[in-house]
Amino acid sequence: MIVAHPSLPGVRRVFLSNPKAQTEYDVIVVGSGAGGGMAAYQLAVAGLKVLVLEAGRNYDPVRETPMFKLPREAPLRGAGYREKPFGFYDATVDGGWEVPGEPYTNAPGTDFRWWRARMLGGRTNHWGRISLRMGEYDFKPKTRDGLGADWPLTYQDLAPYYDRTEMLIGVYGGDDDLENTPRSSPGVLQPAPAPRAVELLAKKACGPLKIPVIPAHLAIMTKRQDANTLPKRIHPDNPLAQRVLAQSMRERQACFWATPCGNGCSIKANFQSTTVLLPPALATGNVDIVPDAMVREVTVDRTGKATGVSYIDKRTRTDRHVKARVVVLAASAAETARILLNSKSEQAPNGVSNSSGLVGKYLMDTVGAGLGGQIPILENLPPHNTDGASGMHMYMPWWLYQEQLAGKLGFARGYHIEFGGGRSMPGNGTFSGLETYTQGAYGKRLKEEARRYYGSFMWFDGRGEMIPNEDSYCDIDPDTVDQWGIPVLRFHWKWSEHETRQAAHMQKTFAEIIEAMGGKLTGRVETDGSRAIARGGQIIHEVGTCRMGDDPRTSVVNQYGQSWDVKNLFITDGATFVSNADKNPTLSILALAWRSCDHLLDELQKRNIG
Ligand SMILES: Cc1cc2nc3c(=O)[nH]c(=O)nc-3n(C[C@H](O)[C@H](O)[C@H](O)COP(=O)(O)OP(=O)(O)OC[C@H]3O[C@@H](n4cnc5c(N)ncnc54)[C@H](O)[C@@H]3O)c2cc1C
Ligand code: SF4
Repeated sequence: MIVAHPSLPGVRRVFLSNPKAQTEYDVIVVGSGAGGGMAAYQLAVAGLKVLVLEAGRNYDPVRETPMFKLPREAPLRGAGYREKPFGFYDATVDGGWEVPGEPYTNAPGTDFRWWRARMLGGRTNHWGRISLRMGEYDFKPKTRDGLGADWPLTYQDLAPYYDRTEMLIGVYGGDDDLENTPRSSPGVLQPAPAPRAVELLAKKACGPLKIPVIPAHLAIMTKRQDANTLPKRIHPDNPLAQRVLAQSMRERQACFWATPCGNGCSIKANFQSTTVLLPPALATGNVDIVPDAMVREVTVDRTGKATGVSYIDKRTRTDRHVKARVVVLAASAAETARILLNSKSEQAPNGVSNSSGLVGKYLMDTVGAGLGGQIPILENLPPHNTDGASGMHMYMPWWLYQEQLAGKLGFARGYHIEFGGGRSMPGNGTFSGLETYTQGAYGKRLKEEARRYYGSFMWFDGRGEMIPNEDSYCDIDPDTVDQWGIPVLRFHWKWSEHETRQAAHMQKTFAEIIEAMGGKLTGRVETDGSRAIARGGQIIHEVGTCRMGDDPRTSVVNQYGQSWDVKNLFITDGATFVSNADKNPTLSILALAWRSCDHLLDELQKRNIG
């Protein structure tokens, strides 16, 4: 029985109460975030019948986004707390660093953090929208410096998918063409927003330091998409796709520069799976979505072919099984590994698709370190509004490729710099730490001091590449299950010296920039990289665990995310990443997912699978 779901229009809750009456789908997609949303959309517009199983609850971004709420309307003035670590109005309605009843564990000596969003659309409801392409070097890192592994594809293989993904979701940016920082094809990107004063000031200071400061790329629309021409350019031979995409584009507005993207965007100006991918997917009539469906296992037949998945219906706490010709896993990098490792059978005692023994291995995050500064030239500015997109308008790509290649830096891979400051809309924490500057002022003088310093603080965060290593991985904890009885993940983690030295280099660079701006550091420059570096998982860019490759002995999937062992099983999330370039991963997850779907459709057409 299928009934209309009351929340996200078109989301139906599908009850599969009688196993004999179960619908058989062409494809089951597990997860509805970046990788799952893209897979559901691409396969549905290609005409396949798709079932999306999502562990989180249904979520309607138009109705539920607290976009216009002010911090003063919230408890604790909107500050974060255990259940809402990123603030009361954060779009993550269910999840965070902890998910009640669904623990994970750390092996002795490991301090890994795992952020999960248990909701339709996953983490795309909240993410920072920073959308950088990987460059040519990033696909062949081992060829360049002998470390880690190369990807089984090149930048040129993925470039057309980057173009189409950027047009589809709406990404703003510039057309700079710097080393290993590729530009998009003409007409693909939305215009970059004008730089803010603090960004221009940083650019000026970075000139003599030879650090480039260029327009950032964020999945935010600075103007409305052209619904008459773009869908035809994106899907040239597919009238169904053109129709549903044009309708979806017409429902999206351009950014009006006023509200924090982390709370979600009910006007659909930025990219969320729930505003950009799932609505047109549903409009095809080819997709059913089952929220509250916690997948625990991929089932296979005697020939090793995937038959479907088993999941827990969280509302009734009952076990269900659904069948399909193809299974796509996109539950996020770590959770996908968990599902595979828990899918044990006689033929696959170590888990499905794990003949290489590599499922769970080579887990990576992004290297992170930050520093702030107070910039006297920005004090006492007249009241003005520097709001814009709630993320950066400019950033600094990695600039020391040649020095690194010549072995001058002492670490192997680079980082980009995200930065900001200025007089944006005050949120929780805007004036925290002010007492360091106000020497005990209170009353009228405190107000004057607050006005003086408001907008004079800047922050700098490095986001760098981690090289995969043997000590960073996840496996199944033999002693712990979650509230659904599913064995949980146990993390093992170690940064190498390449990462810790990189973190120390970040700190030194940020201090140089702040000083070049005439500023004072608000923190200490940490020369010991192992103290400066963020915890594993803390940057929430975890990828790896089911790496792609050319050889089934050294990889879990091929370059299309297709399992070597189970041909009708695909992975479209960050699990397939071979390395974790300094470029934030989600744009690449989306582009790779699209490429995987094209291959999946080819394989079905050639009757190689299904
Ligand atoms: C605060 C924050 C800021 C970020 N900023 C950026 C940024 O600026 N740029 C960038 O590139 N990336 C950023 N990221 C990371 C980005 O969100 C992820 O890379 C991206 O969402 C990963 O997509 P995914 O499809 O793999 O996973 P998700 O988006 O997490 O989706 C996975 C989905 O699968 C569901 N699921 C999990 N387990 C199961 C199961 N067993 N059964 C069924 N369903 C399941 C989940 O509930 C979820 O909906 C940020 C993340 C956070 C939290
Ligand atoms: S800043 Fe723009 S894109 Fe972000 S939530 Fe506000 S309107 Fe939407």
